[in-house]
Amino acid sequence: MSVKGGQLGDFHLVQSGIAGAGHKRYIGERFSCRFCGRSSETVTFKKKAHAIPEFLGNHQLILNSECDSCNEHFGNTIEPHLEKYTLPFRALAGVTNKARKTPRHSDKKIGALQMDRHTNNLTVTLSDDDVVKFGDRNLISWGMERKPFVPYLAHKALCKIACSVIDESFLQFFEPTLDWLNPLNTHDIGITPTLVVETLTPGAKYNSCVYRLYLRNTNTFPHCLFWIAFGSYALMTVVPTRLDLKEGIDLLSEVPYVPDSRSEEEIVKFGHQVHVEHDFSSREFMSLPHEVYMKFSSIEEATPLHTNVKSNIDIT
Ligand SMILES: [Zn+2]
Repeated sequence: MSVKGGQLGDFHLVQSGIAGAGHKRYIGERFSCRFCGRSSETVTFKKKAHAIPEFLGNHQLILNSECDSCNEHFGNTIEPHLEKYTLPFRALAGVTNKARKTPRHSDKKIGALQMDRHTNNLTVTLSDDDVVKFGDRNLISWGMERKPFVPYLAHKALCKIACSVIDESFLQFFEPTLDWLNPLNTHDIGITPTLVVETLTPGAKYNSCVYRLYLRNTNTFPHCLFWIAFGSYALMTVVPTRLDLKEGIDLLSEVPYVPDSRSEEEIVKFGHQVHVEHDFSSREFMSLPHEVYMKFSSIEEATPLHTNVKSNIDIT
């Protein structure tokens, strides 16, 4: 399976939405959990189950059809892995977390990296000056080290979001994924490669979380693509459907990227999108370093050992 640029080909958009900081919106049938199948007779529905985790910037979209028990299970098992994987993206773009604060990144070489969401300035305090490479015209680059996470579980958390935002009428297609997510099952799904595509859109900033779900019915794996954007980044992945488990499915296919929605002027000004493909089938902990390239309006060096970089950012 490989990824190709251009249109979305055979894939049809079946669900899309925006979720940010506004009034709460509730989706899904009440008092019936779509993950474990239990109702309010046996489980409680007291907690507000965010259809998309709050750390991705969704303070708004609530799923009625998730019981407290499943909510706690997902929060303890899969979501921490997606949280760690996405932290560099969220720290760089200033995506607000559950506490409505911009997250702070730190690793061995970076003392602290945090966006001030009021001024749009990114401050980076370095523990090791050599980590940053200075290029021409305020272009700088550095590597960010993630806290170790399990890619398989981060992908599972993305599939859980897809199954949360999808309308009830499409749930039948996602039975294998719902079985896999069900905490009462030991059912497992292994897709190799487990494609996750990171897309950086330079100059773009999604203040809310934007998502799209695409389906096709072509006897070709994959049949479903889920795309979610926050800050300047988007993640696209494959969500298993029952169509993928039929006999005679063609496993060799090309998967399109979601087209760039920016104007020609914006693309010329900020540059083309950057796509990075990963295989998230590994069940081992890994830190997966993230390389950052940024163009700053100004760089101020505070002390020889602690370079504080302040600017309005254009990520390139
Ligand atoms: Zn449940």
